[in-house]
Amino acid sequence: MKPKRIVIAAGHYPDRPGACYNDLVEHDEAVKVVGHLKRQLETAGFEALVVSGHLNKKIAEVARLSPDATVEIHFNAATDPHAHGTETLYGSNPEDKILAQHIQQKLVDILRLRDRGVKDTAERFAWIRENKCPSVIVEPLFLSNADEAAMLKLISVEIPEIIALAVELGIEDFFKDEGGRMKDENLQNPRLKLPPKPPKPEPPSEITVKEGILGPKEQIKHNHSQQIKQIGRKEIE
Ligand SMILES: [Zn+2]
Repeated sequence: MKPKRIVIAAGHYPDRPGACYNDLVEHDEAVKVVGHLKRQLETAGFEALVVSGHLNKKIAEVARLSPDATVEIHFNAATDPHAHGTETLYGSNPEDKILAQHIQQKLVDILRLRDRGVKDTAERFAWIRENKCPSVIVEPLFLSNADEAAMLKLISVEIPEIIALAVELGIEDFFKDEGGRMKDENLQNPRLKLPPKPPKPEPPSEITVKEGILGPKEQIKHNHSQQIKQIGRKEIE
């Protein structure tokens, strides 16, 4: 069988390298992970291709390569230096979420940092929005957190290599997972098979009448009084 083609990229690019905290530069650290990840994917039998440069260029390259999945490596940062942990971002394609869950699981199992979960980015990131195959963004740890940044500076353990291993194992799990992902013909373009989005729930109709004005309680129907109670509570909040 033809090997699965995975396109990987480091977030940002040398001229605008992303977050810089604790003497670490996001793009540089991501490049290290990508180097290890390429080798690990190839060892596992994938075809691994790296795209680099400006985001639009990377996305155009991905379209040309039409891979089976893409992963972009970033590192997180926050103004709160206590923010910490691992998260993986996905978009509206259901396959994105499954890929994110597998990668997140392996990252959490292996890095043992706080599990911040997988996050629906509501298509905010072009990497996820524009790439037409399962695509995620990985945020293994916070550069802005001194303890987590220190991990990347360890000499005894090559943390970028450990991160890469976790991502590779997550990608493997994704393709082993049930649902026909091993059968190419079923997933030529999963985005075309997206079910229509469910309609947004109707906002509750506004009730402007306060309980006191409505008169005796017994005249108020049960569900009505429930609604009023809820609204009353909202007003207190
Ligand atoms: Zn970033």
